Amino acid sequence: MKSKTEYLIFNTSTRRAFINITPQVANIVTESDIKEGLCLVNAMHISASVFINDDESGLHQDFDRWLEKLVPYSPESYMHNCTGEDNADAHLKRQIMGREVVVAITKGKLDFGPWEQIFYGEFDGKRQKRVLIKIIGE
Ligand code: ZN
Repeated sequence: MKSKTEYLIFNTSTRRAFINITPQVANIVTESDIKEGLCLVNAMHISASVFINDDESGLHQDFDRWLEKLVPYSPESYMHNCTGEDNADAHLKRQIMGREVVVAITKGKLDFGPWEQIFYGEFDGKRQKRVLIKIIGE
């Protein structure tokens, strides 16, 4: 079995952001030279997500509005923020949007369904964050 491990670094200029990371992940799959296997992509921070969905700007606005309705930023309304932090909403948004995705590799490529793309979701940005990519296979 072969494996490859890489890290992507993000430092968004806004508190919340959605970034399509499919091209970076696809490049790492190509570099791995693994033809049949699995590719794990996970956010390494508890205020950021990795998820799969459509790359459509209206949809990203809809995700953002939906998340703000469910768990608004409002720092004064969360127990977690009594510690002096202000990112309780980001912890909760990460939980909803998920930690990781696993994509099959078939014939050396990410084996997506129609319209599937991999996104990094940032909910407490303006600082450095990492995403782990681990590929295993033959
Ligand atoms: Zn926190």
